[in-house]
Amino acid sequence: MIDAPYDCIVIGAGPAGLSASLFLARYLRRILTFHHNSPRNEYAHGVHGFLGHDGIRPGELLARGRDEVTSYGGLIIEACVNTVEKISSERFRVVVDSEGTEPRAFEARRLLLATGLRDLTPDCPGFREFYGSSVHHCPDCDGYEVKDKRVAVLARDDNAGAFTANLLTWTRNITLLTDGGEISNDARAKLGGLDVAIRTESIVALEGDTSKRQLQRVLFSGGEPLECDALFFNLGTEPATNFHETLGCRLDPECGLVWVDDTQQTSVDGVYAAGDITPQSQLAVVAAAEGAMAAIHIHRSLIPNERRI
Ligand SMILES: Cc1cc2nc3c(=O)[nH]c(=O)nc-3n(C[C@H](O)[C@H](O)[C@H](O)COP(=O)(O)OP(=O)(O)OC[C@H]3O[C@@H](n4cnc5c(N)ncnc54)[C@H](O)[C@@H]3O)c2cc1C
Repeated sequence: MIDAPYDCIVIGAGPAGLSASLFLARYLRRILTFHHNSPRNEYAHGVHGFLGHDGIRPGELLARGRDEVTSYGGLIIEACVNTVEKISSERFRVVVDSEGTEPRAFEARRLLLATGLRDLTPDCPGFREFYGSSVHHCPDCDGYEVKDKRVAVLARDDNAGAFTANLLTWTRNITLLTDGGEISNDARAKLGGLDVAIRTESIVALEGDTSKRQLQRVLFSGGEPLECDALFFNLGTEPATNFHETLGCRLDPECGLVWVDDTQQTSVDGVYAAGDITPQSQLAVVAAAEGAMAAIHIHRSLIPNERRI
């Protein structure tokens, strides 16, 4: 049996989904939020730059958010959404799996995709021990923490130059590691002019003090290890789900993420998107702001005509 349709189903309970759910619950909307507990920053030691909560542990921020949503009557279910479908102009169906139970269907008049991205991460031994503490992927999030430190940057493609140069904001002691990959002669010359060292050997392992999650050196297939205090990597991302494709949402031609208009609505009527899967900066506070904007416009879109003056 299917519950009566919800006003909105929110898929994802990271900063974007929870912020949207909080506003929707405060608008007295009947909402249902799904997550399977895999926010993008689950490995991070702290969320930086979130006003009023700078440095808060990611798990704590989300736990507080879930409590706030449920305190206003929002329903949050931990379950993996497997399929999404538009079944009529004003009706969406999602099917979820939770451990040990039969798949179950839920319906709603609006759908918010807040499913985030997955980072493509290095696969060398040692990576997991330091990730989120002294190995990072986001200069905006953790650049300040490496001020004046010895930083290694792992990047292989055309973005390597710009990504590396960005870190010069905080430190002049940077070595770019291409891990066997190539970078353009232009980027190589520019980085050389900025005193950035470049090493091209394949990375074999990361080593350090695992009890403190402190990286100390990078080991290579040949040559001396590189002593360093932190490593930033830039190996790309991918959407955590393909629901936007299933629903036929248009992608932003420049970055390939889900295109939204200035109400956070995708190219499919009634389907909204917020957070990392949309083209803005990939920051928790931006995701939360987009979630709030999506909620405001979802609520407005549900107001009946007779109440529009
Ligand atoms: C290591 C690390 C450190 C970071 N540090 C910072 C920082 O210091 N400051 C900062 O501002 N930002 C930081 N970020 C970026 C920040 O975490 C993201 O911008 C933010 O989490 C994006 O929020 P989101 O809600 O869009 O997605 P996410 O937080 O990734 O949440 C996605 C949600 O979707 C759910 N989901 C996905 N698929 C399904 C499915 N099929 N069914 C049900 N639920 C599903 C997940 O369970 C999760 O609840 C960091 C990221 C990483 C990886």
